[in-house]
Amino acid sequence: MGMITVEEALSRCLSTDLPRRTEILPLSEADGRLLAEDLYAPSPLPRWDNSAMDGFAIRYADCTPHSGTPAQPGCELSTPSEPPPATAHLRTIGTIAAGDMPDTAVTPGTTLRIMTGAPLPAGADTVVMRENVTDADGVAIIHGMPRRGQHIRRAGEEVALGQLAVPAGTALTPPVIGLCASMGLSDVTVAARPRVALLGTGDELVPPGQPLEPGQIYSSNSLALAAMVRQAGGEPVDCGIAPDTLEGTRAAFQRALDTGCDLILSTGGVSVGDFDVVKEALTDVGAEMVFWKVRVKPGKPLAMGMIGDRPAFGLPGNPVSCMVNFLQFVRPLIRRAVGDPRPFLPAVPATLRGSLRKRHGRAELVRVVLSWSESGLIAETTGGQSSGWISSMARADGLLLLGIDSEGAADGDAVVVQIIRPGFLSSETPQYPW
Ligand code: AMP
Ligand code: MG
Repeated sequence: MGMITVEEALSRCLSTDLPRRTEILPLSEADGRLLAEDLYAPSPLPRWDNSAMDGFAIRYADCTPHSGTPAQPGCELSTPSEPPPATAHLRTIGTIAAGDMPDTAVTPGTTLRIMTGAPLPAGADTVVMRENVTDADGVAIIHGMPRRGQHIRRAGEEVALGQLAVPAGTALTPPVIGLCASMGLSDVTVAARPRVALLGTGDELVPPGQPLEPGQIYSSNSLALAAMVRQAGGEPVDCGIAPDTLEGTRAAFQRALDTGCDLILSTGGVSVGDFDVVKEALTDVGAEMVFWKVRVKPGKPLAMGMIGDRPAFGLPGNPVSCMVNFLQFVRPLIRRAVGDPRPFLPAVPATLRGSLRKRHGRAELVRVVLSWSESGLIAETTGGQSSGWISSMARADGLLLLGIDSEGAADGDAVVVQIIRPGFLSSETPQYPW
């Protein structure tokens, strides 16, 4: 099977689809999930006309401007030493608190005290904030000339009844959760997490927490991948570590299949070493191979097979290759399965600091640290780019993308960086521009 380009590999990966299931979750557990159905507003927002201020509900027609009456100051203005002249004297006939439904109307010459969020009483068409009213002995003196209709939140002005309030595929971020709650929803239909079986391979591997014999190392791929799968919206199912024998690996793949998972990811054993039996084991459990080997660094020995309609990937064993290949080829498949309309990682322009050399023949994804300068983002290599150097992946904010024919990049060159750690934009100091 010939080596294929990154683009070709991606298109073959995405020629299949994971099953799309949905589940209903309480809003309190839906954080980070993706909405599976368009959500039409079951009620308007706001539900009814209400006051945006603590103040007085009045009839605009009751106010009379004197020549030169200034407009009412807003609450953001400092209180003038002299209040603006009176424009109305109104009889106060009651108070409406948030939670009340007013049963009295504002009739000519009267007013009702009203609190923020309380429904606007019949007859009133304007709210005057408390700071512009002198309220004593049952008479409210309105100072300054209001604008007709001011300080009223109109029913449905934010979201109309039946309007598409949140489209399918929207992530349930905290504000979206708040929006759903404000429309009275307590449950939401979200995309179910695709189940992803994770299988390590290698006689040298021991799970962390156990003692090592000479020659053994700790297995890191399954734990790193489990976290990546979860972040991508999938549910990892750990299927342990297979020994470096064909029978053992085949049996491990069979166990992974028996979990009923939607996707299988193995790591290691997919290169050309004496004990690299993953491809053969995959074929033995019924896989139709889709490709093996991609013109990419880190990576190259990546295998994809279809076991019936279930995709299985043999990811490289080297920890960085394993993660980088997951992010390029598997993550989009999972994001698409959870209904993300934008399943690919963001890529942004940056300026290279330092220089990078590269050979022809493979696309290269260089681990970089990103920082801000006045002219935008600066990308700098994390240092050693060995596919086994997990610590340099741990430091990376992004992957600098060099195409197959690129010969590298020089100091100051414009480059493109795929973001793998969105938190890199966070700052040690507040970032207000004023
Ligand atoms: P392989 O492709 O199986 O020859 O693995 C390539 C390199 O990755 C070897 O150095 C392995 O020890 C290492 N490796 C394979 N699987 C894992 C794993 N699960 N965790 C950490 N390192 C691994
Ligand atoms: Mg191995």
